[in-house]
Amino acid sequence: MQPCISIMTKEKIIIAVDGYSSTGKSSFAKAIASRLGYTYVDSGALYRTITLFALEQGWIQDRQIDESALKAALPAVEIGFDRAGGNRVYLNGVDVSAKIRSLEVSEWVSPLSALHFVREHVDKMLKDWGKEKGIVMDGRDIGTVVFPQAELKIFMTARPEVRAQRRHRELLRKGDKSTYKDVLENIRKRDFLDQNRPNAPLRQAPDALLLDNSDITPQQQMQWLEHIIAERWA
Ligand code: C5P
Repeated sequence: MQPCISIMTKEKIIIAVDGYSSTGKSSFAKAIASRLGYTYVDSGALYRTITLFALEQGWIQDRQIDESALKAALPAVEIGFDRAGGNRVYLNGVDVSAKIRSLEVSEWVSPLSALHFVREHVDKMLKDWGKEKGIVMDGRDIGTVVFPQAELKIFMTARPEVRAQRRHRELLRKGDKSTYKDVLENIRKRDFLDQNRPNAPLRQAPDALLLDNSDITPQQQMQWLEHIIAERWA
Protein backbone atom coordinates (compact mmCIF):
# COMPACT_ATOMS: atom_id res chain seq x y z
CA MET A 1 0.00 0.00 0.00
CA GLN A 2 1.26 3.51 -0.80
CA PRO A 3 1.99 5.81 2.13
CA CYS A 4 -1.06 8.03 2.40
CA ILE A 5 -0.62 10.11 5.51
CA SER A 6 1.57 12.46 3.54
CA ILE A 7 2.07 15.01 6.33
CA MET A 8 4.35 12.59 8.10
CA THR A 9 6.46 11.33 5.26
CA LYS A 10 8.64 14.48 5.10
CA GLU A 11 10.61 13.27 8.07
CA LYS A 12 10.59 9.70 9.34
CA ILE A 13 9.57 9.30 12.94
CA ILE A 14 9.25 6.60 15.59
CA ILE A 15 5.75 5.62 16.67
CA ALA A 16 5.40 3.76 19.99
CA VAL A 17 2.21 1.78 20.57
CA ASP A 18 2.01 0.51 24.15
CA GLY A 19 -0.81 -0.82 26.25
CA TYR A 20 -2.57 -3.70 27.91
CA SER A 21 -2.63 -7.27 26.58
CA SER A 22 -5.01 -8.01 23.73
CA THR A 23 -6.02 -4.44 23.04
CA GLY A 24 -5.23 -4.90 19.35
CA LYS A 25 -1.89 -3.11 19.54
CA SER A 26 -0.29 -5.31 16.89
CA SER A 27 -3.14 -4.95 14.40
CA PHE A 28 -3.24 -1.20 14.88
CA ALA A 29 0.54 -0.78 14.76
CA LYS A 30 0.67 -2.96 11.63
CA ALA A 31 -2.07 -0.89 9.96
CA ILE A 32 -0.29 2.37 10.81
CA ALA A 33 3.00 1.02 9.44
CA SER A 34 1.32 -0.05 6.25
CA ARG A 35 -0.41 3.33 5.80
CA LEU A 36 2.87 5.18 6.30
CA GLY A 37 5.17 2.77 4.50
CA TYR A 38 7.00 2.21 7.79
CA THR A 39 8.48 -0.93 9.33
CA TYR A 40 6.43 -2.68 12.00
CA VAL A 41 8.13 -4.35 14.97
CA ASP A 42 6.27 -6.52 17.49
CA SER A 43 8.46 -6.37 20.60
CA GLY A 44 6.26 -8.88 22.47
CA ALA A 45 7.20 -11.50 19.86
CA LEU A 46 10.81 -11.32 21.06
CA TYR A 47 9.81 -11.91 24.69
CA ARG A 48 7.54 -14.73 23.55
CA THR A 49 10.35 -16.35 21.51
CA ILE A 50 12.73 -16.30 24.47
CA THR A 51 9.94 -17.80 26.62
CA LEU A 52 9.39 -20.57 24.08
CA PHE A 53 13.12 -21.24 24.03
CA ALA A 54 13.21 -21.58 27.85
CA LEU A 55 10.19 -23.91 27.78
CA GLU A 56 11.70 -26.08 25.03
CA GLN A 57 14.96 -26.35 26.96
CA GLY A 58 13.05 -27.53 30.03
CA TRP A 59 14.18 -24.49 32.01
CA ILE A 60 10.70 -23.74 33.27
CA GLN A 61 9.76 -26.50 35.71
CA ASP A 62 7.72 -26.64 38.90
CA ARG A 63 6.68 -22.99 38.51
CA GLN A 64 10.38 -21.98 38.50
CA ILE A 65 12.55 -20.46 35.78
CA ASP A 66 16.16 -21.61 35.62
CA GLU A 67 17.51 -18.09 35.32
CA SER A 68 21.20 -18.92 35.28
CA ALA A 69 20.84 -21.46 32.45
CA LEU A 70 18.82 -18.96 30.41
CA LYS A 71 21.21 -16.09 31.10
CA ALA A 72 24.20 -18.17 29.99
CA ALA A 73 22.49 -19.37 26.80
CA LEU A 74 20.76 -16.17 25.70
CA PRO A 75 23.69 -14.47 23.85
CA ALA A 76 23.93 -17.48 21.50
CA VAL A 77 20.20 -17.76 20.79
CA GLU A 78 19.39 -16.67 17.28
CA ILE A 79 16.16 -14.75 17.00
CA GLY A 80 15.29 -13.89 13.43
CA PHE A 81 12.61 -11.38 12.73
CA ASP A 82 11.23 -10.79 9.27
CA ARG A 83 10.42 -7.12 9.75
CA ALA A 84 9.77 -6.28 6.13
CA GLY A 85 7.17 -8.89 5.30
CA GLY A 86 4.81 -11.02 7.32
CA ASN A 87 6.51 -10.50 10.66
CA ARG A 88 7.52 -14.12 10.93
CA VAL A 89 9.69 -15.00 13.89
CA TYR A 90 12.48 -17.58 13.84
CA LEU A 91 14.13 -19.30 16.77
CA ASN A 92 17.52 -20.73 15.81
CA GLY A 93 16.36 -20.86 12.21
CA VAL A 94 12.95 -22.45 12.86
CA ASP A 95 9.73 -20.52 12.16
CA VAL A 96 7.97 -20.26 15.53
CA SER A 97 5.42 -17.57 14.60
CA ALA A 98 2.45 -19.77 15.54
CA LYS A 99 4.02 -21.52 18.53
CA ILE A 100 4.80 -18.28 20.38
CA ARG A 101 1.06 -17.45 20.51
CA SER A 102 0.10 -20.55 22.53
CA LEU A 103 -1.47 -20.16 25.96
CA GLU A 104 1.52 -21.94 27.52
CA VAL A 105 3.86 -19.26 26.22
CA SER A 106 1.35 -16.57 27.28
CA GLU A 107 1.35 -18.05 30.78
CA TRP A 108 5.11 -17.67 31.16
CA VAL A 109 6.00 -14.64 29.11
CA SER A 110 5.26 -12.04 31.81
CA PRO A 111 7.40 -13.58 34.58
CA LEU A 112 10.18 -14.17 32.08
CA SER A 113 10.03 -10.67 30.61
CA ALA A 114 10.32 -9.24 34.13
CA LEU A 115 13.90 -10.55 34.33
CA HIS A 116 16.44 -7.79 34.03
CA PHE A 117 18.87 -9.66 31.74
CA VAL A 118 16.06 -10.64 29.38
CA ARG A 119 14.88 -7.02 29.09
CA GLU A 120 18.45 -5.81 28.51
CA HIS A 121 18.91 -8.34 25.71
CA VAL A 122 15.64 -7.47 23.98
CA ASP A 123 16.06 -3.69 24.46
CA LYS A 124 19.38 -3.77 22.66
CA MET A 125 17.82 -5.46 19.62
CA LEU A 126 14.88 -3.04 19.60
CA LYS A 127 17.03 0.07 19.95
CA ASP A 128 19.26 -1.06 17.09
CA TRP A 129 16.23 -1.41 14.81
CA GLY A 130 14.95 2.02 15.85
CA LYS A 131 18.10 3.74 14.57
CA GLU A 132 16.59 3.66 11.09
CA LYS A 133 13.48 5.57 12.24
CA GLY A 134 10.36 5.10 10.08
CA ILE A 135 9.29 2.46 12.53
CA VAL A 136 6.11 1.54 14.41
CA MET A 137 6.82 -0.63 17.44
CA ASP A 138 4.29 -2.09 19.84
CA GLY A 139 4.82 -3.39 23.36
CA ARG A 140 4.61 -2.37 27.01
CA ASP A 141 7.55 -0.02 27.52
CA ILE A 142 8.33 1.34 24.08
CA GLY A 143 7.31 4.92 24.85
CA THR A 144 8.70 4.87 28.39
CA VAL A 145 11.98 2.92 28.14
CA VAL A 146 12.93 1.76 24.64
CA PHE A 147 12.15 5.00 22.75
CA PRO A 148 11.30 7.72 25.27
CA GLN A 149 12.15 10.13 22.44
CA ALA A 150 9.47 8.67 20.10
CA GLU A 151 7.68 11.47 18.30
CA LEU A 152 4.28 9.82 18.62
CA LYS A 153 3.17 7.62 21.52
CA ILE A 154 -0.14 5.82 21.81
CA PHE A 155 -1.29 3.95 24.91
CA MET A 156 -4.06 1.43 24.26
CA THR A 157 -6.61 0.06 26.67
CA ALA A 158 -10.00 -1.67 26.61
CA ARG A 159 -12.23 -3.41 29.14
CA PRO A 160 -10.72 -6.82 30.11
CA GLU A 161 -13.89 -8.70 29.07
CA VAL A 162 -13.81 -7.14 25.60
CA ARG A 163 -10.14 -8.01 25.24
CA ALA A 164 -10.70 -11.60 26.39
CA GLN A 165 -13.56 -12.03 23.92
CA ARG A 166 -11.43 -10.81 21.01
CA ARG A 167 -8.44 -12.95 22.02
CA HIS A 168 -10.58 -16.03 22.62
CA ARG A 169 -12.15 -15.70 19.16
CA GLU A 170 -8.69 -15.42 17.62
CA LEU A 171 -7.43 -18.52 19.48
CA LEU A 172 -10.51 -20.53 18.46
CA ARG A 173 -9.95 -19.58 14.83
CA LYS A 174 -6.42 -20.97 15.16
CA GLY A 175 -7.75 -24.23 16.58
CA ASP A 176 -6.70 -23.55 20.18
CA LYS A 177 -9.10 -25.11 22.71
CA SER A 178 -8.67 -22.62 25.57
CA THR A 179 -11.87 -21.41 27.21
CA TYR A 180 -12.98 -17.78 27.50
CA LYS A 181 -12.43 -18.05 31.26
CA ASP A 182 -8.81 -19.20 30.79
CA VAL A 183 -8.13 -16.35 28.41
CA LEU A 184 -9.69 -13.71 30.69
CA GLU A 185 -7.71 -15.03 33.62
CA ASN A 186 -4.49 -14.95 31.61
CA ILE A 187 -5.14 -11.36 30.48
CA ARG A 188 -5.82 -10.21 34.06
CA LYS A 189 -2.74 -11.99 35.35
CA ARG A 190 -0.49 -10.55 32.66
CA ASP A 191 -1.84 -7.02 33.22
CA PHE A 192 -1.08 -7.36 36.91
CA LEU A 193 2.44 -8.73 36.41
CA ASP A 194 3.28 -6.24 33.64
CA GLN A 195 2.12 -3.28 35.73
CA ASN A 196 3.75 -4.35 38.97
CA ARG A 197 7.19 -5.51 37.96
CA PRO A 198 10.13 -3.34 39.03
CA ASN A 199 11.79 -3.40 35.58
CA ALA A 200 10.07 -1.29 32.94
CA PRO A 201 6.52 -1.70 34.26
CA LEU A 202 3.59 -1.16 31.95
CA ARG A 203 2.42 2.42 32.32
CA GLN A 204 1.29 5.25 30.13
CA ALA A 205 4.08 7.70 29.27
CA PRO A 206 3.09 11.23 30.32
CA ASP A 207 3.16 12.32 26.68
CA ALA A 208 1.30 9.27 25.29
CA LEU A 209 -2.19 9.60 23.83
CA LEU A 210 -4.73 7.35 25.51
CA LEU A 211 -6.88 5.20 23.23
CA ASP A 212 -9.70 3.12 24.74
CA ASN A 213 -11.03 0.97 21.92
CA SER A 214 -13.65 -1.02 23.89
CA ASP A 215 -16.48 0.44 21.86
CA ILE A 216 -14.95 1.57 18.59
CA THR A 217 -14.10 -0.19 15.34
CA PRO A 218 -10.60 -0.44 13.81
CA GLN A 219 -11.75 2.07 11.16
CA GLN A 220 -12.77 4.61 13.83
CA GLN A 221 -9.45 4.00 15.53
CA MET A 222 -7.57 4.86 12.36
CA GLN A 223 -9.71 7.97 11.83
CA TRP A 224 -8.88 9.04 15.39
CA LEU A 225 -5.19 8.74 14.59
CA GLU A 226 -5.44 10.56 11.27
CA HIS A 227 -7.14 13.41 13.07
CA ILE A 228 -4.33 13.66 15.58
CA ILE A 229 -1.68 13.46 12.90
CA ALA A 230 -3.38 16.19 10.88
CA GLU A 231 -3.56 18.42 13.98
CA ARG A 232 0.03 17.81 15.10
CA TRP A 233 1.85 17.80 11.83
CA ALA A 234 -0.26 20.24 9.81
O1 C5P B 1 2.39 -7.98 23.16
P1 C5P B 1 2.29 -9.39 23.70
O2 C5P B 1 1.03 -9.66 24.44
O3 C5P B 1 2.58 -10.43 22.68
O4 C5P B 1 3.47 -9.47 24.77
C1 C5P B 1 3.65 -10.62 25.54
C2 C5P B 1 4.26 -10.24 26.86
O5 C5P B 1 5.59 -9.79 26.67
C3 C5P B 1 3.57 -9.14 27.66
O6 C5P B 1 2.50 -9.62 28.47
C4 C5P B 1 4.69 -8.61 28.52
O7 C5P B 1 4.87 -9.41 29.67
C5 C5P B 1 5.91 -8.80 27.63
N1 C5P B 1 6.33 -7.58 26.96
C6 C5P B 1 7.09 -6.68 27.67
N2 C5P B 1 7.56 -5.56 27.07
C7 C5P B 1 7.28 -5.31 25.78
C8 C5P B 1 6.49 -6.20 25.03
C9 C5P B 1 6.00 -7.33 25.66
O8 C5P B 1 7.35 -6.89 28.85
N3 C5P B 1 7.79 -4.21 25.20
